[in-house]
Amino acid sequence: MKILVTGGAGFIGSAVVRYIINNTSYSVINLDKLTYAGNLKSLESIADSGRYTFEQVDICDALELKRVFEQYKPNIVMHLAAESHVDRSIDGPGEFIKTNIVGTYTLLEQARRYWSQLEADEKVLFKFHHISTDEVYGDLPHPDEQQADEPLPLFTEETAYNPSSPYSASKASSDHLVRAWARTYNLPTVITNCSNNYGPFHFPEKLIPLVILNAIAGKQLPVYGRGNQIRDWLYVEDHAEALVLVATEGKAGSTYNIGGHNEKQNIEVVETICKLLDEVMPKQTSFSEQIIFVQDRPGHDMRYAIDASKIELELNWKPKETFETGLRKTVEWYLNNENWCQDVLSGNYQLERLGAG
Ligand code: NAD
Repeated sequence: MKILVTGGAGFIGSAVVRYIINNTSYSVINLDKLTYAGNLKSLESIADSGRYTFEQVDICDALELKRVFEQYKPNIVMHLAAESHVDRSIDGPGEFIKTNIVGTYTLLEQARRYWSQLEADEKVLFKFHHISTDEVYGDLPHPDEQQADEPLPLFTEETAYNPSSPYSASKASSDHLVRAWARTYNLPTVITNCSNNYGPFHFPEKLIPLVILNAIAGKQLPVYGRGNQIRDWLYVEDHAEALVLVATEGKAGSTYNIGGHNEKQNIEVVETICKLLDEVMPKQTSFSEQIIFVQDRPGHDMRYAIDASKIELELNWKPKETFETGLRKTVEWYLNNENWCQDVLSGNYQLERLGAG
């Protein structure tokens, strides 16, 4: 079995590639443009496995995609390549429209062309798995706005799309394109919508790695607004396992929500990281004294929470990590992997790939 993974040098993509190589006998073709978010150092542990190939390709480049499909003849496509940072989408939405919408369209067209030429038995096995986010659903009522006895709703696979940011709107568009290619052209597709991921190899512009690295550098820990926004956190290796399960065993035409049942306010997340750091790097004052509150992000969604019962029931998947065990592992990983962090913070990981370092 050959799996074409797009965006395999990113945070979740690299976890998927490591998971496939370490836990299955499948081969991986990692197709990635290597934007600022792509880092091949996250794949050093599996690069020499003999079942891994890297192709530096932009998903907007139809000719290159055609070549990759014809050269490697993948059985499954797992599509993770995307612009993924909400703040960047607010400052400059253009790249999000290009990669997330036009790129997904270009990939779908090349996948369809390739799939239509397969033999009947290969056609049945083929799957295009589109990896998306729970942010397409917009936000949910926050407990602060509800009566104590009112049940708090969750996102299900049937929740209507209502994206708030240029990022989530571009991902919602890409989900619609994938469904349209399934319905119109019968391309066998599956879509997963997942909550916030955290874990090793996470680019330090995102909340958890940013807080860990700023805290140990003695810097301030900025928290948006009052820090009461709720996110549902999932350890990235649990997500990678779920994704491979859906790609190989998920029912074509289906959507699966993936989440960790870990609803936490942002301020709780930051305080928990500070407590873990106080434990492993005790100093005179607590790391929590570095927390500052900054002006909230425009259009900030207040609460995301996933109902993951469909994937749990149909595919028998459950996350292995609780938020507490996963966060402890993550903090320890950042403390033990100073080289990876320094490389990212200094920008060296980008210089080396250009042959300049
Ligand atoms: P990331 O930003 O860490 O990685 C994205 C990868 O895509 C990078 O390696 C980058 O080089 C590559 N890429 C970007 N533009 C490209 C292009 N035009 N052509 C080829 N490659 C390109 O993102 P991530 O956090 O790993 O997210 C992966 C996917 O999962 C995204 O589709 C994202 O929407 C989705 N997702 C992320 C989260 C999360 O919490 N991070 C949660 C749910 C879903």
